Amino acid sequence: MSTAVQSVPMCYASARMLSDAVVQLHSVSKAFGSTPVVNDLSLEIAAGEIFSILGPSGCGKTTTLRLIAGFERPDGGAIIVSGRTVADDNVFLPPEKRGVGMVFQDYALFPHLTVADNVAFGLKERNGPRVVELLTMVGLGGLERRYPHQLSGGQQQRVALARALAPQPPIVLLDEPFSNLDADLRAQVRREVRDILKRTGTAAIFVTHDQEEALAIADHVAVLHQGKLEQTGTPDEIYHWPKTRFVADFVGQADFLPAKVTSEGVVSELGLWALPVPVDVGQDVELMVRPHDTGLAADRQGPAVVTAREFHGEENHYTVRLPSGREVHSTMPSHAVYQVGDRVRISVCVPEVVVFHQGSGLGRSKAQPATARGSRQQ
Ligand code: ATP
Repeated sequence: MSTAVQSVPMCYASARMLSDAVVQLHSVSKAFGSTPVVNDLSLEIAAGEIFSILGPSGCGKTTTLRLIAGFERPDGGAIIVSGRTVADDNVFLPPEKRGVGMVFQDYALFPHLTVADNVAFGLKERNGPRVVELLTMVGLGGLERRYPHQLSGGQQQRVALARALAPQPPIVLLDEPFSNLDADLRAQVRREVRDILKRTGTAAIFVTHDQEEALAIADHVAVLHQGKLEQTGTPDEIYHWPKTRFVADFVGQADFLPAKVTSEGVVSELGLWALPVPVDVGQDVELMVRPHDTGLAADRQGPAVVTAREFHGEENHYTVRLPSGREVHSTMPSHAVYQVGDRVRISVCVPEVVVFHQGSGLGRSKAQPATARGSRQQ
C-alpha cells in the first residue's frame, strides 16, 4: 500500500542552522505539577534579530521567556545565551548572570526613582553620560527628573526599554510590551521600538498573542500551541505557507474548503488545483482560502448568496454561502457593496492556495484551467 504523502516541500524543511545565534533552546521542557507547559521546544535567535513568540493565551509564551531570562528552571533540555550554557541538567545561572535585558508587560519601573535613576539602575557608573544618551535615543531627552507617574504609557514603555538596553545586552526579552497601550499609540511605539533595537543592533524576543503585531514587527516568528512549536519562519512564510492547520487558522483568518484528490488534481467547490506533492487519488484534503484571496461579482444567476456584510470603513467583510451550504468569507473594497440575499459569483483571485492533508500543510497549489469537473468560479 502506498503512502498518501510522498515528500515534504522544501519550504517546510526550514530548521535553521545559525552561525550567529545569540540564544538557543535545545529540547527545552517545563511542567508545573503534572501539566507540561513548554514541551520539547527548540529555537534559535540570530544576533540583531527581532524574534516573536506568538500563540494563544496559555500556550507557554511567558514561561518560555522566563526560562530564557532565568526566572524558571527547565525540567529538561539546554538554554545557551551568547555561546554560554545558562541552563541544562547541571547548570543554572541566575538572571543577573545571563546578560539579557528584560522589559515586562507592566514596565516594572521603580515608582520612587526618577526616569534617569530608573535607567541608571543597571549601570555601574550611574552619573555618566550614558543615561542622557539612552534617554535621547528613546526620544525622552529632557525628562530625566520626572517620575514614572508623570509619564504617559508610551513614555514609560520607552524608559523600560532604555533601562533594559543600558548595560548593552546582546538581547532583550519583552513580554507583551505593547499590550497596555491604546491601538494608535501601539502601532507608533512598536515602530519606534523596532527602530531603536535595529539601530543598536540588539536582538529581541518578544511574546505576543497578537498575530498582526508579530507579523508587523518581527524578522522571524515562532508559533506555539499548547507548549509545542508549530512552526518558525519569516512573517511571510508563516502567513502564506502555514505548516499546520492551527497556524493557518491562528495567523490571519482562513476558510478551509473540503476537496478531493483526483487524477486531474484537487477538485473543490472553488475550482481545480494542482497537487503540490503526490497524494493518492481519492484522498480527502482541504484548501485554505483567506478572505483577501477571494473576489465577489454581482450576478443574478450566480450560485453563491451573500449572508452577512460587515462594513469596516476601508473594507467590507462578506460572508457568502456556496451551493453546498458551506460559508466562506470575502474581503472587498469599501465601495463594493452587496446586500444580504444578493446572488454573486465568487472567485479565487490568487494564483495559489495552500492544501492541507490530515491537518498538515502540503504546500501551495496552483489553479488549473477550468474543466468539466471544476472551475475557479462559483
Ligand atoms: P498569556 O498570553 O495568557 O500570558 P502564555 O502563553 O504566556 O499566556 P504562560 O503564562 O506561559 O502562557 O502559562 C502557560 C500555562 O502555565 C498556563 O496554563 C498557566 O496557568 C500555567 N502556569 C504559568 N506559570 C505557572 C506557575 N508558576 N505555576 C503553575 N502554573 C503556571
